[in-house]
Amino acid sequence: MESSAFFNEVARKWQEKWENARIFEANPNSAEKYFITVAFPYTNSPLHIGHGRTYVTADIVARYQRMQGRNVLFPFAFQFTGTPILSISESIKRGDKDIINDFINLYRIDPERIKEFQDPLKLAEYFRDDMKKMAKALGLSVDWRREFTTIDPRFEQLIKWQFRKLKDKGFIVTSTDAVGFCPNDNFPVGMHDTKGDVEPEIQEMDVVEFEGGDLVFPTATTRPETVFGANYVLINPEATYVVIRGSHWILSKDAFQKLQYQRELVPEREIAGKNLVGLKVRNPITGKDVQVVGSKYVDSKLGTGSVMGVPAHEPLHYLGLSESLGEVEVIPVINTEGYGDFPGPEVLTLAGTKNPAELKDYIDSLYREEYYKGIMREDIVDLVPDYMRSTVKERISGKRVPEARKATVELLRSLGKHDVVYEISNGPVYCRCGAEIVVKVIRDQWYVAYDNPLWKSWTMKALDRVEVVPEEAKKDMAKAIFSMKRRACSRSRGLGVRLPWDETQIVDSLSDSTIYTAFYTISHKLKVDPEKLSDQFWDYVMLGQGDPTEISKVTGMSVDELKSLREEFNYWYPLDSRHSGRDLVQNHLPYLLYNHLAIFGENFLPRRIVVNGFVRVGGKKMSKSFRNIYPLYRAIEEYGVDPVRLSLTVSSELAEDTDFDVNSVKAVTDQLRRMYDLAVNVSKLKENESMELPEKWLLSIVHYKVDEVSRLMNSMDLRKAFNIILYEFYEILRDYLSMVNNPKPSVLTKVINIWVRLLAPGAPHIAEEIWHIFNEDFVSVKKFPSPEELVVDGQAVVQLEYIRYLIDQVREISSLANKQPEKLVIYVSNTDELGVLRTVLRGLKERKNIRELSSMTGQREEYLRSIIERIQYLPQVLKDFIIIYPIDEFKTITENLNFLMRRLDVDEIQVYRSDEVTAPDIKGKKFNALPLMPGIVII
Ligand SMILES: [Zn+2]
Repeated sequence: MESSAFFNEVARKWQEKWENARIFEANPNSAEKYFITVAFPYTNSPLHIGHGRTYVTADIVARYQRMQGRNVLFPFAFQFTGTPILSISESIKRGDKDIINDFINLYRIDPERIKEFQDPLKLAEYFRDDMKKMAKALGLSVDWRREFTTIDPRFEQLIKWQFRKLKDKGFIVTSTDAVGFCPNDNFPVGMHDTKGDVEPEIQEMDVVEFEGGDLVFPTATTRPETVFGANYVLINPEATYVVIRGSHWILSKDAFQKLQYQRELVPEREIAGKNLVGLKVRNPITGKDVQVVGSKYVDSKLGTGSVMGVPAHEPLHYLGLSESLGEVEVIPVINTEGYGDFPGPEVLTLAGTKNPAELKDYIDSLYREEYYKGIMREDIVDLVPDYMRSTVKERISGKRVPEARKATVELLRSLGKHDVVYEISNGPVYCRCGAEIVVKVIRDQWYVAYDNPLWKSWTMKALDRVEVVPEEAKKDMAKAIFSMKRRACSRSRGLGVRLPWDETQIVDSLSDSTIYTAFYTISHKLKVDPEKLSDQFWDYVMLGQGDPTEISKVTGMSVDELKSLREEFNYWYPLDSRHSGRDLVQNHLPYLLYNHLAIFGENFLPRRIVVNGFVRVGGKKMSKSFRNIYPLYRAIEEYGVDPVRLSLTVSSELAEDTDFDVNSVKAVTDQLRRMYDLAVNVSKLKENESMELPEKWLLSIVHYKVDEVSRLMNSMDLRKAFNIILYEFYEILRDYLSMVNNPKPSVLTKVINIWVRLLAPGAPHIAEEIWHIFNEDFVSVKKFPSPEELVVDGQAVVQLEYIRYLIDQVREISSLANKQPEKLVIYVSNTDELGVLRTVLRGLKERKNIRELSSMTGQREEYLRSIIERIQYLPQVLKDFIIIYPIDEFKTITENLNFLMRRLDVDEIQVYRSDEVTAPDIKGKKFNALPLMPGIVII
């Protein structure tokens, strides 16, 4: 049978048996609880292997904790809310070919069915069912009784309660703000709505008004302090401009279209750009008349379509002006170390090009230098009218640029010549529908006040109490919280929960997902009419406030029922481990902390947050825009469940991105197959003689490895843990089998029973299959192995680990010499030297320095350094045991000659002590022997 078919058949069999035996349904009991969740998915497309990685990581922890004897709750739910679902639905309505093709070809969905997805609810429900099927196929040990969606009417009551609480505490505010907005879909967009998952960044641009006749040029700039040297206004002569009623602003047509989303603009008439050239307008600060000049370098799409011309500090202005006018007057206003008086023209000479794209780096670096090092010139005072001089002298001239910038804006504002427009600074950003995102100013928008200083500092402090894996992610979370802005928490469209005080608004998807994990604790028991789930009900169940007898009257639930809900919440909460992909460090995970604090207080914060890296396919991050989405169903179909699970786990560290490729899955598949075959063979062996050295070594080394794996599992180093389980265990068993003529089945069975339990969290299906060769019950609910199950024989470990290390050394030498040995000569050093090495090892463990080591051993420091250098190459297990157990290298080798010869495939081995006078010196290696590193000659 093809191996994927074999693994999938095994998986289906055990999934069915687990479900029938209901072993993953968790109810409160007297055992220690463990509550673990993953960030729930948006139901807008099938699960891919990126989801798979996060879910498998959490499932390994869930299964591991269950095998530690804890009562584990691992529930699952689905996010129906908001724009991620809606935008896919609208794309289908529009007939978006890319998406429809993906649905048909990549996801194999019936085209007739796809038509139904124009209704977002149909889309969400289809993928809810599809995702659930895949989560089950992946073997997740989930309690499915507690499943829900974010449009469940009872869930809606919880969120309404949460939002009323937040509002009462002053954490919901309303204000006017600028947001990224899709003009086509007509709603605000965030990272999850854009092509390539780009968060649109909004930049504020200052507008300085230059007035002349009955027109006002609202020039846009990010450097308002240069207005002192603005002796021109630049426009694009090729563009069309629009005059605005009321303000008399003159805007390029492109800017007019964008700025309509930011302010009320009524167009009066159009003017061709070239007809504006030559007009005279007034610099609002200096009061001087300046000329409007045409320049092809002015981008009519940026800002307002006109800029104030500052040739002294803007290379492109200088370039445009000199091309149009020939002679350019230059008025410098900032002194910056490293630049002369006229940085604008200077940069052009320096760069030696007139190509704006090539100039960009030079211009950026001028901006940066002037911002951080520039000082406003003293003589700008002479540029302004008398009444303004004292202000400019006091607050602007001689000051650093950041300070001068602020003061200039204030001055302009007091003159009534200042305004603000917004731009997407990382643009162009495109909506999933294809339209370019614009900035919209929204009035009376509801926000969660994540910038509230008290709430923010409370959350910062609380983060200290949460374990974050990996450690670096905690720093990223702290950074995210530090710079957290308030978040628009409602949308006018999409599925989801309505804002309790404004039924026209839907709570957005990153705002209704901040305490939803609490709902899992009671979701399966909540059958009452949703309307009856009043605030008092939630206050009692979630916070323990109020009188259950009173609440019983309102809800129609019995007091016992209410109490059992309260107990269930109290038993499971808080979360013990919360899992998500790395992208959620920026938003969801901080929101989760903020909201848990606000609603439940410090004692109910999640105890641990685990973040994993992305999955790359073909060397690239998986993304719809790269068109390299790898659906989970395909991975499972092609490779089998357990190989996919383990390959996502062993290929890289948790925090790193991992490549999902054929070779890594294949290696895992082969290894699992080998272990399975080995177990089958062991089950057929007949029992034989008593315990010998190899058996003693095998049990001891397994003891050692179980200890190591447990430590790695606890520190979430799943990669190393499963590499040991998959590969090192197999090596150990293979070595054992080549040490003995008649393997001892009782010992092998014992080892395999331990190994299967180590494997079970990662590859639960094949583990059940192997377990049942020897046992009746489910390995999924057995105890995870502990080292105490095995007796350690230190002497056996030292001797056979020494032999295994010797085999490695011989292999290394023969691979360097590129020669397969037929015969070996081995010289071992004397036992005194080994004594020194053991003392040094013990000293290092006690953190002794080189001087102390020297007095402990009576040896010179230089000699000790050479020993320490050598020690780092020794296997850890040998170092750990050799401290306690001595070894006679000569005797050990001679007693294990047969094993050595078999493993190394040589015909003859001669062994000598190097201090034996009569021993021959072959190829000068006799005196090369060092403790634990014999002199080796290959012939
Ligand atoms: Zn759109």
